Amino acid sequence: MIQLAHVATGALVGRHRSGPFDALLAGLVMHGAMDVIPHGEVNDEAFEIVTAVGGVVALAVRHGLSSPIVWGAIGGVLPDAEHILPHKLRSSRGWFPTHRFSWTHGWETKPLALPAWTQAMLGGAIIGVFAMLVRRPAED
Ligand SMILES: [Zn+2]
Repeated sequence: MIQLAHVATGALVGRHRSGPFDALLAGLVMHGAMDVIPHGEVNDEAFEIVTAVGGVVALAVRHGLSSPIVWGAIGGVLPDAEHILPHKLRSSRGWFPTHRFSWTHGWETKPLALPAWTQAMLGGAIIGVFAMLVRRPAED
């Protein structure tokens, strides 16, 4: 999945977690679940980094750094950070389970793969709603 989708789904699962650590774990699990779904990629590292950081920062500005929404989003994107590690630190097979074992990763060549543009539209919309409309837990 592209980073906008991972940020958005991480925020969604983090929202109702009890705290940052719980939300981080939920985001990590959600990353794995999203990777299994056949999906397209953008194959543009700069776009992925900018949208991941921008999405998390937008959520942090709205909800604060201690918010489970933010930590769910961080957990959602964290596994893919291994793709941008210096080459000496990268595992040739990947560290995260859905990266390490190719049979667990839903590739874009499979039928009904979720296109990258759909992920970008939905992910961007969800992040926008969370960053502008969803209230902080203390405001509920
Ligand atoms: Zn991944």
